[in-house]
Amino acid sequence: MSVQVTTQYYGKFQIPAACVACGNPPAPGAKWKVSHTRSRQKFSSTEYKTMRLEFPLCLECQSASKNRSMGTLVYLLGILVAGVLVVAGIGALVGDRTSAAACMGPLLGVALSLIVASQVRERVNRWGFSTEQVERRKLVKRCAQIKRFDEKKGIVFEFENPGYATQFANLNLGTAV
Ligand SMILES: [Zn+2]
Repeated sequence: MSVQVTTQYYGKFQIPAACVACGNPPAPGAKWKVSHTRSRQKFSSTEYKTMRLEFPLCLECQSASKNRSMGTLVYLLGILVAGVLVVAGIGALVGDRTSAAACMGPLLGVALSLIVASQVRERVNRWGFSTEQVERRKLVKRCAQIKRFDEKKGIVFEFENPGYATQFANLNLGTAV
């Protein structure tokens, strides 16, 4: 269950030195960026204010949270090339060697490949990651959120990891619910 932490409106926070998603030791330079934008009506114009914060990630959580693995990119390229070759091959078999067909073949191949590639993309994304990584990826996506902030009422965070939430609350004189 997620834990909400309320702190005062600080400009700077003490960030616990642990992975915000799973609590493992953090990897150098691995950060999870969190932001929240608030809009407020001020006379006739709307005023926007954004709050940004960075939390540490461990190596496993960082790689699982990346959008696509290298294997996926190679796979998508493979589909593209295969599509072009298939259509070019069919053209050669049919023996239609008019210049129009010679031009249309590869173009059709590229178009077909793009359609196929976009349709399998979601599945391929999953293929590129192990089941453990997929679960970790989901956890990282929701591990920390800024729910709302207000100069007077303070800031409300939400953490998925109760241990991390407690540490964060303790370091920043907040209250965890
Ligand atoms: Zn982690």
